[in-house]
Amino acid sequence: MELTPSDLWTRVLETVRQGMPEQSYRTWLGASRATGVTDSELLIEAPSEFHVEWMEDKYGPILHQVVEKVAGRPLKLVIRCSDEAPPSPLPDVEVTSARIPAPPGPGSRRSGSQSGPPPTPSLNDRYTFDRFVVGNNNQLAWAASRAVSEKPARMYNPLFLYGNVGLGKTHLMHAVGHAILEQSPGQRVAYVTAEGFMNEMVNSIQKGTNAQFRQKYREIDLLLVDDVHFLGGREGTQEEFFHTFNALHDARKQIILTSDSPPKDLPQVEDRLVSRFEWGLVVDIKSPDYETRVAILRKKAADDNFTLDDEVMDYIARSCTSSVRELEGAVIKLLAYSSLRREDITVDLARTALKGMLRSEDRSSQPRLTAGAIRDRVAEEWNVTPEALASRRRTKDITVPRQVAMFLIKELLDPALVEIGRTFGGRDHSTVIHSIRKIEGLVDEDPEFAGRVDSLRRTLSDPGKP
Ligand code: ADP
Ligand code: MG
Repeated sequence: MELTPSDLWTRVLETVRQGMPEQSYRTWLGASRATGVTDSELLIEAPSEFHVEWMEDKYGPILHQVVEKVAGRPLKLVIRCSDEAPPSPLPDVEVTSARIPAPPGPGSRRSGSQSGPPPTPSLNDRYTFDRFVVGNNNQLAWAASRAVSEKPARMYNPLFLYGNVGLGKTHLMHAVGHAILEQSPGQRVAYVTAEGFMNEMVNSIQKGTNAQFRQKYREIDLLLVDDVHFLGGREGTQEEFFHTFNALHDARKQIILTSDSPPKDLPQVEDRLVSRFEWGLVVDIKSPDYETRVAILRKKAADDNFTLDDEVMDYIARSCTSSVRELEGAVIKLLAYSSLRREDITVDLARTALKGMLRSEDRSSQPRLTAGAIRDRVAEEWNVTPEALASRRRTKDITVPRQVAMFLIKELLDPALVEIGRTFGGRDHSTVIHSIRKIEGLVDEDPEFAGRVDSLRRTLSDPGKP
């Protein structure tokens, strides 16, 4: 007896499901369905173009094999997007693409109360999909981000990206913002760190402009909130954010969140927020593997117009394993080193230039750089005592050098974050991450400060040189 198309497809999926991660299954295959069968074809519908591509690229051959096996006859698999709906009759000039969500429901806030053009969000121009290298470590996060940028607020809301520092979470989130603005320039896109959100809220309370603050965040089409682990223990901010989240979600606006851990592991974040963070899709980004690291180096070289020999790329990719930020740091350092010394970039030069950064065997000839030594050197530079840096004091003259020390320890030695915390009187890992980010921000903003950090880094990583 011939199986119905949907029985046939169910059996196929059951088989395939066993051989793949459950999350991938649910994301990519779980939402597909069979719509018919002919003499030669099985017709399948998937929820988006993106699903179609993914199914064909990644699982096409396997699915095809299993289909024939289950059906017991040659059968071609034809996957289509179920959503090739006609363009919506939305009388809304902001929506320029038929791939954008259907007309807003009654809960929509696209009202006449908005005035003036949407504010330009502070998105980093370099953080686009074009510049993002897809590897095994980030494929799912990338795919989900693409899907969200194609159909905001339709499939994964919120999209929750988590992973360690420097793996591309902020980059991906900005890329969605760029993509959406490109399709529909009128969209209101807001990017904010959880800390920025809190600061703005606190200011608005002080100035009595709380109502405007609320209004602003509730009239947004795409809200990007970076580093939500910062909310941990900050109850007032969580409360406010909870309401913002609900208002936007109810109005079918897309929300993307990033964090250093999955929602359920966020310390001191209320259950009701955790559960909302889990409503959509939670995906992680891992450290890039060797191939991805090389691909990233190639891409950077092409995008930024510099050249590196294959051997040099290989050397860097083997040496910098923890994050993309580390890879980028190595390249910047190497380029600077070569131009300062007016020497061509060779593996030898790379070895010298990157010595302090790397864990590699190359360092064995040198006295080993330790976290304590870095802390002491930074204290000296800032004219404070090492004990003050390890203390709990929170005055600015102490916090800045303390953060710089954490930043340099992370960059030069890359120990576990808790270990860094221990060097500074047992601070927890979120404090350490916060400190590192703070310095990253300052380095980006303030060239003088960047120079100071850079010269410290140089003396630390090459103690033989003045
Ligand atoms: P996170 O937010 O996870 O800490 P970022 O998004 O700030 O990390 O990424 C750190 C740096 O690495 C950025 O300069 C970013 O452009 C770059 N980067 C990260 N992942 C990739 C990737 N897959 N392809 C290209 N560049 C990347
Ligand atoms: Mg980030």
